[in-house]
Amino acid sequence: MALLLAVTIAIVTALFLSLVEGVGRQALLVASIISFSVSYLLIFVVLEFLIFREINKIYKLMGKLRKKELSGIRKEKSGALNPLEKINEEIFAFAALKQKEIDELKKLEAFRKEFIADVSHELKTPIFAAQGFVHTLLDGAVNDKTVRTKFLKKAAKSLDGLDALVQDLLTLSQIETGDIKMHFEQIDIHKLCHEVIDQFEEKAAKKHIKLHLDGHPNKLFVLADWQRITQVITNLISNAINYTADGGEVRIQFETSKKSIITIVKDTGEGIPVAHLNRIFERFYRVEKSRSREKGGTGLGLAIVKHILEGHGTKAEVESEVGVGSSFSFRLPRIKAEEEAEE
Ligand code: ADP
Repeated sequence: MALLLAVTIAIVTALFLSLVEGVGRQALLVASIISFSVSYLLIFVVLEFLIFREINKIYKLMGKLRKKELSGIRKEKSGALNPLEKINEEIFAFAALKQKEIDELKKLEAFRKEFIADVSHELKTPIFAAQGFVHTLLDGAVNDKTVRTKFLKKAAKSLDGLDALVQDLLTLSQIETGDIKMHFEQIDIHKLCHEVIDQFEEKAAKKHIKLHLDGHPNKLFVLADWQRITQVITNLISNAINYTADGGEVRIQFETSKKSIITIVKDTGEGIPVAHLNRIFERFYRVEKSRSREKGGTGLGLAIVKHILEGHGTKAEVESEVGVGSSFSFRLPRIKAEEEAEE
């Protein structure tokens, strides 16, 4: 390219000088040669400089990539014509994409490690407890009838906790991997809550907690998966009873509109401090670890609730006041019953 430009400049110079009177052939030849040499040299130096500058930029970029400083640099596509600049931009775009993928993989890896550490810790607790009781019995305590019964009951409680934890872990992993498909159908959410409440009567009675289900003149049909929403209500009522002191109240209410129904599980329990409110749906997050375990909690109940509701395209809302109580609610799309639709 430099050569072509220099030849053109030399020809233009010769043509120009040939128009000037008194310039001989020899002078024309000398002028053309000088013009060719000078312009070739200049063009060559300028091009070298430009190429050198762009290559330098590419090297600098590579250096930054090696030092993983990419996230710090921002570069917009300039639509440059210069092929070297284009290469520079392409390399940057590709590297930025790869860096993003690496960052995401690293985040996933950290999450996986944390999860494995959490699960191991959670599994260890009931296993060690049961192991301790069984070994104490084998070491001689088995001969004392009262100690034997007491320790066997404690070991059984730990193993029940282990079973609940494994069940919850399986449910959570099945929902996350998509092994559990939501089966959406028209369900009566009032009837569903009634069935769940029936199962908790004994547990509530033991703590003298009043369990109340608000009535409603119409049937409350929603589009949802019966089994999964049963699990959501079960987890919410179970928590409400667990975290409410003796003599309290747990109530299920409904707020209806034309298009949706909000189900609310309300308790007069201990409440949740504001600082913990946006974390309680995380796996194994507990406001008080020992209290939750003591009540047989796996620390996964609300994480399961969150995932199931996400599968329904909705989410759980929580309002709580320490010492007054908590209220968990979620909205589902309403379906008009046939007899109501005809009215
Ligand atoms: P857990 O098995 O510990 O109950 P969850 O995921 O169901 O696990 O709940 C997470 C934490 O949220 C609980 O440990 C508890 O601290 C808090 N929590 C959940 N529901 C209530 C409630 N109704 N009242 C007070 N605290 C609650």
